[in-house]
Amino acid sequence: MFNGFSGLLNFMLAFGCILCSMSYGEEIPRDVCIIGGGASGMYAALKMADKHYSVAVLEKTGRLGGHAQTYRPDDGAFVYDLGVRIFPDSERIKEVFDRFGQKLKRASIVDLKRRYVDFETGLLSDYEEPGYWSTMMSLLYYWYYSGYTFSFMLKSGTHLPDPVPEDLLLNLGDFLRKKKIDIGFTPLIHYLQGYGAIESVPMLYVLKNITHRVASSILWNNFQTPVEGVDAIYPAMSKEIAKLTGQQSVFVNTQVQTVKRVPDEPVLVETVHNDQPQSYSCKYLFVSAPPLLETFEGVLDLNEQERLLLSKFKARGYWTAVVKAKGLKGDEGVFNVNTKNMIKAAKFPGIYAVLPMPLADHYNVLFGADDLSLSDEDVRQRIKADIEHLKFGGSPVKFIDFIEFHNHSPFGPYVEVDDIRSGFYRDFNALQGKRSTYYIGTAVSGPSTPDCWDHTGDLINEYFPDDNPVSRKSEEL
Ligand SMILES: Cc1cc2nc3c(=O)[nH]c(=O)nc-3n(C[C@H](O)[C@H](O)[C@H](O)COP(=O)(O)OP(=O)(O)OC[C@H]3O[C@@H](n4cnc5c(N)ncnc54)[C@H](O)[C@@H]3O)c2cc1C
Repeated sequence: MFNGFSGLLNFMLAFGCILCSMSYGEEIPRDVCIIGGGASGMYAALKMADKHYSVAVLEKTGRLGGHAQTYRPDDGAFVYDLGVRIFPDSERIKEVFDRFGQKLKRASIVDLKRRYVDFETGLLSDYEEPGYWSTMMSLLYYWYYSGYTFSFMLKSGTHLPDPVPEDLLLNLGDFLRKKKIDIGFTPLIHYLQGYGAIESVPMLYVLKNITHRVASSILWNNFQTPVEGVDAIYPAMSKEIAKLTGQQSVFVNTQVQTVKRVPDEPVLVETVHNDQPQSYSCKYLFVSAPPLLETFEGVLDLNEQERLLLSKFKARGYWTAVVKAKGLKGDEGVFNVNTKNMIKAAKFPGIYAVLPMPLADHYNVLFGADDLSLSDEDVRQRIKADIEHLKFGGSPVKFIDFIEFHNHSPFGPYVEVDDIRSGFYRDFNALQGKRSTYYIGTAVSGPSTPDCWDHTGDLINEYFPDDNPVSRKSEEL
């Protein structure tokens, strides 16, 4: 039946290939495959669709928006953002929300009445907020420093000079002591949530988080928040992308299994979509999900340099919840500070803050950990125990239930100071465009949505300057 061994081998190879292509179904052809349907992935899809590229956003969960997550009670009485909630003043934010007819309103990070509590003891901390003028002076100094001392930090992405200035490698505590800035710098505690013990955060990441734009928005009080909730824009973007491309472009519940990048061939992305195998063939790949080795080992066909660089990324744990509890005041936020010196803020893992919601006995809890070792169940137990441990109001606090619980980990990809010093970001930036792959999202841009969108928009304009001459849509038609 077979012409010797090679005939048998050919048959087996052909049969094997039939099986492998059958197992992942017909390949869906797109110009760009984008891993992750959060703020960065969706904005990349929109920008590429605007330039007449066809796209496939591959999102592992059943919803779009990633860290943008809005709580809407059944009676529609209010909207409350649990994850992303405010944006510093940004033209791009205004332009995008305006495009989708979504109104922004002014928001403040400091309007809320605040209590500082040591969650280890459950008692009020002896921390006192610095006075208005002291805060203003620190802020003005920081505003100047963040915008003019290292003006390269104003560029989107992470582009550092060589050698990297040593000030950027100091941790926050040492930096503030060196510069003699009032260490009771209130906005730090609001803005560095998600960063664990903030004293040890390197200045590079402090400056990427509390950017010059953020410092301006604190000073001029012009933060913005979407009236309809921060996550409403992503389904609207999805519709617009489908309209622009004339085809399905966003695929939720899609687990990326393997990505194969062979020179001169389309990138092949094999996924499981709603429990069904499905593959995509794309000219370009955008990775918007945090590019940790743990996530992509065995998924992306990494070469040695990619594996080395991805292995350097670490991330923290970050969870948000809506809890029902009795005994807390409904008009003040409780912040975890365990010493007079705020920079030696709370110990982690632990609660960053318990914030009142516009619903009786409902609170938004933010919980963080310095690494990714805690399970969701560990975190639930910690939150419940820490809340019941609070006794600063005189009477005990009764935890009733979790109404919502969200895991935002891995949060805020970062690398160690020694790696930054030895040119990690130079090497990581050099990966852009290699093997048809582009990295967007918080690992490169910095953590806020305007930073993600600025970086994504700039990267697309740099690497894809013109409209797509031959769109996959027109090829298919
Ligand atoms: C609690 C919290 C509060 C925040 N508050 C603010 C704020 O007020 N203002 C602000 O500007 N920023 C805030 N941020 C920062 C926020 O990270 C950014 O604003 C922005 O949402 C980042 O978008 P992203 O798309 O890069 O990442 P993400 O939002 O994390 O999106 C990544 C997406 O990729 C998906 N994904 C992950 N792995 C895979 C995989 N293997 N395959 C397929 N899909 C995958 C995820 O499900 C997710 O949808 C906050 C973040 C958190 C966690």
